[in-house]
Amino acid sequence: MTTWYKQLPSIFYSELELEPFPDAQLFLWNTNAAEQLGVGVFDLSEVKSGIAMAYAGHQFGHFNLLGDGRAMLIEEFRNKENEWCDLHLKGSGPTRYSRNGDGWATRSSMVREFIVSECMHELGVPTSRSLFVYDTNQMVQRQQLEPGGILGRISKSLIRVGTFEFAQYMTSIEDLKFFADHTIQRLYPKIQSMENPYLELLRVVRDRQIELIVHWMRIGFIHGVMNTDNMSIAGETIDFGPCAFLNTYNANQVYSSIDRDGRYAFGRQPAIAQWNLWSFAHSLLPLIHEQEQIALEMAREVIEAYPKLFGQAYYKMMYSKLGLNFDGDESKSIFVEDTLALLQRHKLDYTQFFRNRTHHLNVDLHTHKDMLHWHQRWCTLKDDSEASLEAMKIVNPKAIPRNAWVEALVRSVDSSEIYDALAAFKRATISVDDAVEFEKDFLHDPAAYQTFCGT
Ligand code: AMP
Ligand code: MG
Repeated sequence: MTTWYKQLPSIFYSELELEPFPDAQLFLWNTNAAEQLGVGVFDLSEVKSGIAMAYAGHQFGHFNLLGDGRAMLIEEFRNKENEWCDLHLKGSGPTRYSRNGDGWATRSSMVREFIVSECMHELGVPTSRSLFVYDTNQMVQRQQLEPGGILGRISKSLIRVGTFEFAQYMTSIEDLKFFADHTIQRLYPKIQSMENPYLELLRVVRDRQIELIVHWMRIGFIHGVMNTDNMSIAGETIDFGPCAFLNTYNANQVYSSIDRDGRYAFGRQPAIAQWNLWSFAHSLLPLIHEQEQIALEMAREVIEAYPKLFGQAYYKMMYSKLGLNFDGDESKSIFVEDTLALLQRHKLDYTQFFRNRTHHLNVDLHTHKDMLHWHQRWCTLKDDSEASLEAMKIVNPKAIPRNAWVEALVRSVDSSEIYDALAAFKRATISVDDAVEFEKDFLHDPAAYQTFCGT
């Protein structure tokens, strides 16, 4: 295998042989992703080795040394846009970083990542892509024995905030610099020649995170475990563990079984991204300036701009959802907040509410008198131009992967059923009639719905 990662000092990774999977069979293949990314055929039996990446991370606020405990980087290639991409296996067996884990993954959790990441891509959200799922035909011990699976995922890079934390905590300043320079060269070559590329890296990662989280807020995505090791420097959605989607709007919504305090609740995602950026900034400080105090001030300026920049991007998106002009009129942002409060108070479906406004489906207007009142107010504020309506159509998804739909699919043993369901989802993102049909059986979560990490 060839990859730029091997140019790094050896502390950054661990080389390993891939144990053969004599009974493995291809279960899912993502033709779309393969075509779009220019990937030809893939045969698991030809993969002999790879590298597990070392990283650290703040998990629920606590620092831990981590690493790919059940994943490995096996290849890098250039996609059709000539950008570098990494191909990883997930669920491929134990590594030096497995700690207490077994190194395996259940097929159902890998199918879940395959489905959700593909839907995220369809919805226009930056994300790692899933290329395939293999059925290992070996059982994995969880609460009960379950079929094992291996996912092939493609990302611009799986360097995380936690990889920088690892570099700062575990290596020398020279190694940290070497790593940062390589990351910049790989992901953001344009900033190489800038006066302070490391400060610029902080700025560009901040901006990518803003863009990403605004997308999540747009479609009602809850990542579920926004630890710094799950936050990508390339600004993609990665590590689909306990993620889920909002049905009825609730800023405090949490699905993950381990997120007892709601640290990663839907409405907290913007603030958590800023918290994570502070961790990133800390690991870059020695590179930003040799005097720590000055470095801190420089980083502070970048991070403290986050709330304002996030607010601008967020309200711009929310204004588009509501067909409002973005003209700096304060009363419109109050209207956005009032709209969300209305949704929360009356437990209204987040996706349907905005979709119905976009496509003049007024079936829900008479559900509450508050709603009629809201509608009158909206009519006085909205911009009825073609451009505004077009923006609403782009920003408001017609359909999302409903949790109940995802859960009904992940245990399917019939790959054609999964392909058909993904094709139906794709149609639902294009036509409202198809969207209504697509979601009708899946609007409500399974009873006491919870999601789980690392299954
Ligand atoms: P996650 O919450 O899925 O992002 O994983 C957090 C850490 O746990 C990462 O370092 C993973 O590699 C590791 N991990 C998760 N599941 C397993 C497993 N079954 N075996 C070994 N390591 C795991
Ligand atoms: Mg992770």
